[in-house]
Amino acid sequence: MNPDRIPELIARIALADPRVRRTDEAEQIAQIDMWAGILADVPFEYALDAAQRHYATTSWPLLPADIATRWQAVVRDRMNRDADPEPPGVDPDDEQAYRTQLAARRLAVAHGRTAPVDARELTAVPDEVQQRLNRIGQYIPDGARQQLAAYRPVAAERERLVRQGQADPLSVPCPWCDAPTGHACRGRRVHPSTRDPETKRQGGRKPHPSRIDAARTAA
Ligand SMILES: [Zn+2]
Repeated sequence: MNPDRIPELIARIALADPRVRRTDEAEQIAQIDMWAGILADVPFEYALDAAQRHYATTSWPLLPADIATRWQAVVRDRMNRDADPEPPGVDPDDEQAYRTQLAARRLAVAHGRTAPVDARELTAVPDEVQQRLNRIGQYIPDGARQQLAAYRPVAAERERLVRQGQADPLSVPCPWCDAPTGHACRGRRVHPSTRDPETKRQGGRKPHPSRIDAARTAA
């Protein structure tokens, strides 16, 4: 806060705790100087609020360091929750402007003028995409889903297409090989030595081109 506001802050706190008030003028000046230094980063309203909360629960004298410590904890908490997104509307190649905007946003978050943006919001997918993902099944948590992608190539590929806003071929049956909705395409040749050749062939096969066309038409 501006040092000009320190006398007002001390006067308001003195209403709750007269011990804070100094009568000697030299002491007053030294006190204002000391508080101004300790509370330089703390907004006036926050300091007043912290003082009120302090005297609501205890009659111990309030030290300016108590206010500054609480304020630092608030700032730390806000900054920890903030994913520090790119400031909007600034050319990232204009380094000076970019740094200025970034610093201004961090300060606004620290002071509570801007809400922190957490990492989940930054990586969030649009509602429409999320709805399509829900339709193909989202019963595996995202972290595990990514690790499992190599073991479930068909599902992973469907998710990739949906996330990129492309047509999902498995959302329609294949007109070429008759693979039903949700199942990978299969070869038409039936192998006599295996009992269930179609199932055996599922999983790795890319969708037939006519199925991709059908999905694009349906989308
Ligand atoms: Zn097919």
